[in-house]
Amino acid sequence: MNTDLRTDLAELDVSALEDALDALGRPRFHARQIFQWIHKHGVVEFDAMSDLSRELRTQLGAAFRIGTPTVVQQDRSVDGTVKFLLGLRDGKRIESVFIPDTPADSSRDARATFCLSTQVGCAMRCAFCLTGKMGIDRNLTAGEIVGQVRVLARELHLLSSRFNIVLMGMGEPLHNYDETMKALRILADEHGLAVSPRRITLSTVGVLPNLERLATEALMPNLAISLHSTTEDQRDRLVPVNRKYGLRDLLDACRRFPLKRRSRITFEYVLLNEVNDTPEDARRLVKLLAGIKAKVNLLPLNEAAGIPFDRPSDDRVNRFARILADRGVTVSVRKSRGRDIRAACGQLITDSARAKAPGQQLASMLGS
Ligand code: SAH
Repeated sequence: MNTDLRTDLAELDVSALEDALDALGRPRFHARQIFQWIHKHGVVEFDAMSDLSRELRTQLGAAFRIGTPTVVQQDRSVDGTVKFLLGLRDGKRIESVFIPDTPADSSRDARATFCLSTQVGCAMRCAFCLTGKMGIDRNLTAGEIVGQVRVLARELHLLSSRFNIVLMGMGEPLHNYDETMKALRILADEHGLAVSPRRITLSTVGVLPNLERLATEALMPNLAISLHSTTEDQRDRLVPVNRKYGLRDLLDACRRFPLKRRSRITFEYVLLNEVNDTPEDARRLVKLLAGIKAKVNLLPLNEAAGIPFDRPSDDRVNRFARILADRGVTVSVRKSRGRDIRAACGQLITDSARAKAPGQQLASMLGS
């Protein structure tokens, strides 16, 4: 058991840090310096904070700690993608993925992407997703969400470069709303990494009450909706949370969602061979999205043992994409990155969980 009771400064935003210094009888202005050291420079020890007096550093070390995930394992894909297995303070493990920019993208302001987890496991149990098989263990704290960026950026020497962040790792961000939003505020803070919200994408199955809350936030990331089906029946089966928050209500919420000029909602649609990839599905999708500023990202299934679906042929994928494009819908097909190291969408599952039987978390969530 971990008996270190010191306050974890990596969990605090600047104003909470100011309060912590206050409580210690120290000037509040040090908060910005400390925040900078932790979030901008990625330091993990007070001793490295060279613009603070030795005495203050000692005092800080006695009262506080800087919680940082440890790197348990790194796997590098032939395409440059790196999957990190990270260890948390209570021994739980999560995965985070670094996806380098690709030459094909470089015409359009390409840059590297960090794919972050928001929970240990996931409660949503989407039928085609390996993480869903784990069930949910617990929420990540804001410090643990931000910590993934600090650790990956440090390991890859990217602290001073700009990058994108996608909340598409393990977990459902809108099922861990408060810590996720706090993490985004810390990431966006000008004293830290100053990641512009335009560079952050939150991907969700559509936990509706929290999607409505997101619509009122000052800090607004890009929104991606994991749609995957065009009928309530089918979505009930593929994305079980649909039984609680149905497709029609989800699309209504998307219609109302405040979008900045020129921005659009991305609809993710995993293509499952002969399940949801027919021309009728494609045409229904076009109709459903009418009136929404949308673009569609098709995700041909990443297959995995235990996932009872097949990846469609390229021909079927292209036929589906063409139907959308011909009807004026912007569509892209997600290139699958890091499949050889099991780092691609829906393939994140920690080893300890691979053996475990699925729990009952979704059932309890749906009942709540
Ligand atoms: N819980 C969030 C974010 C995590 S998943 C969400 O569902 O949006 C990121 C994307 O990968 C989601 O669209 C998810 O449906 C998709 N995905 C899951 N399993 C997949 C698989 N086996 N192949 C391809 N995409 C998958």
